[in-house]
Amino acid sequence: MSAVSIPIRAASAGGCSDAPVLRERGQHEVFCGLTGIIWLHRKIQDAFFLVVGSRTCAHLIQSAAGVMIFAEPRFATAIIDERDLAGLADANTELDRVVNQLLARRPEIKLLFLVGSCPSEVIKLDLARAAARLSSTFSPSVRVLNYSGSGIETTFTQGEDACLASMVPGLPASAPQAPAELLVVGALADVVEDQFLRLFKQMGVERVRFFPPRRASDMAPVGPNTQLLLAQPFLADTARALQARGATLLSAPFPLGVEGTTLWLQAAARAFGIADDAFDAAVAPATQRAKAALARARLALEGKSIFFFPDSQLEIPLARFLARELGMRLLEVGTPYLHRQNLAQELALLPEGTFLSEGQHVEKQLERCRAAQPDIVVCGLGLANPLESEGMTTKWAIELVFTPIQGFDQASDLAELFTRPLLRRMRLAA
Ligand code: SF4
Repeated sequence: MSAVSIPIRAASAGGCSDAPVLRERGQHEVFCGLTGIIWLHRKIQDAFFLVVGSRTCAHLIQSAAGVMIFAEPRFATAIIDERDLAGLADANTELDRVVNQLLARRPEIKLLFLVGSCPSEVIKLDLARAAARLSSTFSPSVRVLNYSGSGIETTFTQGEDACLASMVPGLPASAPQAPAELLVVGALADVVEDQFLRLFKQMGVERVRFFPPRRASDMAPVGPNTQLLLAQPFLADTARALQARGATLLSAPFPLGVEGTTLWLQAAARAFGIADDAFDAAVAPATQRAKAALARARLALEGKSIFFFPDSQLEIPLARFLARELGMRLLEVGTPYLHRQNLAQELALLPEGTFLSEGQHVEKQLERCRAAQPDIVVCGLGLANPLESEGMTTKWAIELVFTPIQGFDQASDLAELFTRPLLRRMRLAA
């Protein structure tokens, strides 16, 4: 089997850099920011996420993270009931009682997040003040932070952005003359982090930290020596907060597929003055393996059409990968928000003429999707079942966030997430 040849080039203006974008507002179908707890609680192993919300909020995270029922979970919901909503009880007193109970029972917790929800925002519960109060009570053994996972006008990956941004003010300042350090920002599976760490070391970038860390005590220092490399495209607030602390944001596509991963690693290598031949030698074996594996997926996907509903904010990097490395045809690439600065390199690589949309008017978009009759649709859970019943093949956007898909060794797994539903549909039709 021959390896697929992908032209790797640094993106400059071009592609869809200046492409028109259809902006829509209206009813939209997305999960709220609480969903981020499902992957974040696995990442920061001594943190606990206490949602201050309703029974609906509790059901959402329990059913989405159902696998945790056999283990001691690292998330829970402090339920706001009718008495709180009617102003009959002091929600702060109740919250303090719940937190005291939790921390007495779970001494391993070092970082506690109070996560706001629609109900806590409706009753105007000041979780920032509650977090400061509880932090002063339990410091130094436990730090208490807060962020909002509320579902009003948000999409589910914003939960991670809000969570990471809440940690930035507590990061230590780096020493004034400290050598340059790379900070990779965005929750990645541990296996992916370890692969990247090996590649950085092989090319000669020695000082690498990840944020969020695996343990609350391992917070990376930040300052003017920090070179910031985003691993996820949905971290605009976190990036802004880190830049305000002096960090420099490296411009790169995201590490999806061979091309994205190469350019992402290369952005770091260039910032650290690594010679091209040292970089090429470090990435060559993994690149070759990934290209060979992708050649198989390309046989199934080349020429197939795809339509993205806005959901995870991964849509543009995914579309770039599917079009350029697997030969798929992009019918519409919808994204909840288009952060032009963070996505500049991605937009430059997207095929010219790609139909881009931002925000959602779900009915109008469904009409466009039905008219286009794509081979596969990437959408939220709420739209997948109705579209499947109409005979369309769908891929749940949320699965792309839960699955390790970044880096060379995961490129073919990422492609398989798209081949599998198509093959299943073909078997059903046979
Ligand atoms: S949308 Fe609001 S009420 Fe519903 S689960 Fe999310 S935070 Fe809770």
